[in-house]
Amino acid sequence: MSFSAEAFKRQFPLFAQPENQQLVYLDNAATTQKPQAVIDAICGFYLHSNANTHRSSHRLARLATDMVERVRGQAAGFLNATSAREIVFCRGATEALNLLANSLCSELQAGDEIVISTAEHHANIVPWQMMAQRFQLTLRYVPHTAGIPQFDRLSEVLTARTRIVSLTGGSNALGLRPDLQGIARQLRGRQLHWIVDGAQLAAHERVDVQQLGCDFLVCSAHKFYGPSGIGLLYGREQLLEAMPPWQGGGEMIAEVDLYTSHYAGLPHKFEAGTSSLAAIAGLGAALEFLGTQDREAMAAHEQQLMAWLHEELAEIPGIRLLSQPQHNLGIVAFAPVNGSAADLMHWLDGRDIAVRVGHHCAQPLIRAAGETATVRASIAAYTTRNDVEAFVQALREYLALAE
Ligand code: PLP
Repeated sequence: MSFSAEAFKRQFPLFAQPENQQLVYLDNAATTQKPQAVIDAICGFYLHSNANTHRSSHRLARLATDMVERVRGQAAGFLNATSAREIVFCRGATEALNLLANSLCSELQAGDEIVISTAEHHANIVPWQMMAQRFQLTLRYVPHTAGIPQFDRLSEVLTARTRIVSLTGGSNALGLRPDLQGIARQLRGRQLHWIVDGAQLAAHERVDVQQLGCDFLVCSAHKFYGPSGIGLLYGREQLLEAMPPWQGGGEMIAEVDLYTSHYAGLPHKFEAGTSSLAAIAGLGAALEFLGTQDREAMAAHEQQLMAWLHEELAEIPGIRLLSQPQHNLGIVAFAPVNGSAADLMHWLDGRDIAVRVGHHCAQPLIRAAGETATVRASIAAYTTRNDVEAFVQALREYLALAE
């Protein structure tokens, strides 16, 4: 198989709308656009099989329940989990990380330690801070230089009290993709849980949780062409079995008495309430859609554009380039030397070029880089060479005007 970004892009109807003919969409790390197949699956669910799942047993309810369990199986295949019981549907990576933090930390002792890094999204910082305060746990950071984590020095912060290591599989602010095999080597043989925040990773690379050897991995469908409102938590079956549920309610129980309840088995124990059912249908379509693509060729295309963007931006005076092309999932981050990043973003927006400006939910990292806000251009497989050229050209024009 091979890959054409132009042909791929034609499957995303947003780009064909009259008002989007000139759109250069470079905010893919925030969320990706959706292919027709995903949109059809969401509509199809409401048109043909809308009912609540796992409760009623009439025809429509059976259809909806079958769909949810079929998509769970697809998701297990997507991450190469050993069984669908290892897949929990969540609202997104944020909810999955909160589930893990709440459930795992409730079993820890005061003084136990959690290791995270300065390159984490707030979703992988704040829940641990909250649990550290509630249970008197100690939060430690991977050694870092100017805010950039030195993942090869992770073992320096591991102690006999380390219980959880929760690290990014790819930074949404700088694109930095840690050497996950190197992290695995440092963690091998230790009595702790390794969580991978795969929110960015899963959009750009095949993820194989068995090969990685992680205990848990989280991701969000909207980052890989699926709908918003649905994400995945992968967890090793024995670990999920032993963990207490996080939220209580319908569907997560086997039996409820006046003062105690017995919980359902996996994975339903962690899925209290009605899930985002149409979004699960859309996720199924996104996984099928991705399954028909040459993912290695998609990644090679993204890497080529990302490297080219770095080369171009390195030549432009008037900006401070903060990202690096090595081990990068497809993100270019920089700050204008003069003037504000927000002004630049508005100017680009006036030319219908969508980039993101701000701290990118990674304040510790952006602050350590000496910035309060950066400009981020993030690439997806439908990003074309024309998109990237239009962005570079507009950036040059803006900086020439600002001189
Ligand atoms: N982790 C990373 C690395 C992210 O990039 C994001 C979203 O930008 C999240 C976690 C949170 O994902 P969500 O907002 O889909 O829950």
